[in-house]
Amino acid sequence: MATLRFRALSELASKKAERFSPSTENISKYFSENVFNRAKMRQYLSPEAYDAVISAVEEGRRIDRKVADQIAAGMKAWAMDRGATHYAHWFQPLNDTTAEKHDSFFEPLRSGGSFETFKGSMLVQQEPDASSFPSGGLRNTFEARGYTAWDPSSPAFVLEGTLCIPTIFVAYTGEALDFKTPHIKSLNALDKAATEVCQYFDKDVKKVNVTLGWEQEYFLVDEGLFLARPDLMVSGRTLMGNISAKDQQLEDHYFGSIPNRVKAFMEDFEVESYKLGIPLKTRHNEVAPNQYECAPMFEEANLAVDHNLLLMTLMHRIARRHKLRVLFHEKPFKGINGSGKHANWSLMTDNGTNLLSPGKTPKTNTQFLTFLINTMKAVDEHAPVLLSSIASFSNSHRLGGNEAPPSIMSVFLGTTLSNILDQIEERITDKKLSPDEKTEIKLDIGRIPDILLDNTDRNRTSPFAFTGNRFEFRAVGSTSNVASPLLVLNTAVAQQLVKFKIEVDALIEKGVKKDEAILQVLRQIIVETKRIRFEGNGYSQEWKEEAERRGLASIQDLLVALKGFLDPKAIALFEEFGVLNLSEIHSRYDVRLEALVKKIQIEARLLGDLATNHIIPTAIKYQNTLIDNLKGLKEVLGNEAKSYSEPQIETLKMISDHVMVIRTKVNEMVEQRKVANNTEELEAKASHYYYKVLPYFEEIRYHIDKLETLIDDELWPLPKYRELLLLI
Ligand code: ADP
Ligand code: MG
Repeated sequence: MATLRFRALSELASKKAERFSPSTENISKYFSENVFNRAKMRQYLSPEAYDAVISAVEEGRRIDRKVADQIAAGMKAWAMDRGATHYAHWFQPLNDTTAEKHDSFFEPLRSGGSFETFKGSMLVQQEPDASSFPSGGLRNTFEARGYTAWDPSSPAFVLEGTLCIPTIFVAYTGEALDFKTPHIKSLNALDKAATEVCQYFDKDVKKVNVTLGWEQEYFLVDEGLFLARPDLMVSGRTLMGNISAKDQQLEDHYFGSIPNRVKAFMEDFEVESYKLGIPLKTRHNEVAPNQYECAPMFEEANLAVDHNLLLMTLMHRIARRHKLRVLFHEKPFKGINGSGKHANWSLMTDNGTNLLSPGKTPKTNTQFLTFLINTMKAVDEHAPVLLSSIASFSNSHRLGGNEAPPSIMSVFLGTTLSNILDQIEERITDKKLSPDEKTEIKLDIGRIPDILLDNTDRNRTSPFAFTGNRFEFRAVGSTSNVASPLLVLNTAVAQQLVKFKIEVDALIEKGVKKDEAILQVLRQIIVETKRIRFEGNGYSQEWKEEAERRGLASIQDLLVALKGFLDPKAIALFEEFGVLNLSEIHSRYDVRLEALVKKIQIEARLLGDLATNHIIPTAIKYQNTLIDNLKGLKEVLGNEAKSYSEPQIETLKMISDHVMVIRTKVNEMVEQRKVANNTEELEAKASHYYYKVLPYFEEIRYHIDKLETLIDDELWPLPKYRELLLLI
């Protein structure tokens, strides 16, 4: 009998929902209790030190050494009051996870005795050994030095006895080895460009922040079943598994009632998240069985990214207490919905105006249209690199698939907004407007919020949809660091806003009135971006054909998608705004190719191992049972046995046929892998893995899944789809 599988199944029946972090208090009582936020800073820092942190956050001012010592001392005092014994620089290397190295506050004295210390220099900078993080050739092995440097805009926090300090991570040459560094640069670029454009409408605006509200989808599986699936353990997805008779076809999981064990897990990780200041708001069942989602209240984007990564870490840890495992993989199961991380994106001024929310007056609405239309233009202009920013091996199982974001970049506005843009296109010309025309247009623009209020139409097939007061970038993968797509989007919008301002100013210079100049330039952009506007079904064949007619890129192929990062327009964009330099761009591309190579390599090894050491022996075992049975029949029935042996012989042969194909294909795959491994040049190697090794996965899987339908259930070693998906 398949021991692990059946033990897991029998234990599962007795597993109960249990709470580990129960709380009867109101959330507001303990929200952020483990965060060194402004309130804590006031308490633990001198006014001088406090002001230094605030002006570092708000104006990017440098903090001098002496003040840094004071800040560190205050931080240490607070952290020790929260039970911390260690501190760690917490950073985001180029592999969609976070990294941390813990050091103790404790310091022995030569004279005996000991004390606890944390100096400004330890807060501000550290030098972890960078040689084991992906760098895409940015450092030589003999010069592996990398530095982490404090990011004061994201507050420090205490997690399980360690004071964690969010930091950037750069090579000794200053080049970024992480996502946070270029993301912060992109936020600054966009702040500058957007603030300048805001001056047309409101002179008081001094700063524009990007707001991000992510929605995190994930699957849960029982730990016992998970441990009996080496593919889930090692690669985060199932490499085989016949579909379950029932999965999502009855549409009975979405928004269904949350199972008890899952609810206890959710409540626990929510409590821990609240303590860390992560403002979670929603939880629900997603479309696929055992798929769930949570989402917080939106926040400033740099902080929101940190919170997303922190939450993912917390969820992994807390799931284990509940004997559950979280799967963040974009496509853990074939044939059912995968997981995304929708990024809700908007811009907010320092006086609290959401720039993508329609206002109350013609002026604020023109401002709204300005940011809406320019964002659309940025997306059109930089579609290849935007698609590239969300491309990865794991997300490629969703890309182009039916339930997934389409591989063509389009923007959904909703019919109402679309009509308004059409009206502007029709009515604005290069000529001066008559007073009557002007009044009429102003009146119409002023009406936008009322119309939008009753027209909150949604389109879930659009990769980039306007949803009333923000854009929702839906194509982001559930495992990814959202900073990766955001840094592209932010920079692209910054560039477009700069261009827009130059054009409007040029018209004003020529004597055109400001509001007319703005409308004239907007009209021009509306015309240019028409091709990217699409209101229909983004998954349909008609759209593919239509998009081709419109000249939009359709990127189905992962290698092509990845290469979008090297699009000349993208390189110029990153360089213009100092977000990434040429060597950083190339190194990032290399890092992603390397990741692709390694992931396919790992899965290929795993598949070979499972096929050879789990599946084929099981098939042979069952064949032996059949052979014994045939011998027995012969013994008992003699010549009569022949007519009763047909089904067994048939099955015996079918099993052999599948085993033979599996064996051959595994051998061929191994041969191709060898060729790939002997290929030096990275692009060629990735392409060999992708085009020559990967296609074997589906072929081998097909025959394994067929065997699953033939072989005695008692013998089958791997938990089946129905068990992984329907039990918890
Ligand atoms: P849905 O699934 O219907 O899109 P959810 O409630 O799951 O909606 O998630 C909506 C997300 O959008 C939340 O994270 C929310 O904070 C975020 N959001 C709302 N307004 C803004 C905004 N102005 N900027 C960024 N994100 C926003
Ligand atoms: Mg949602």
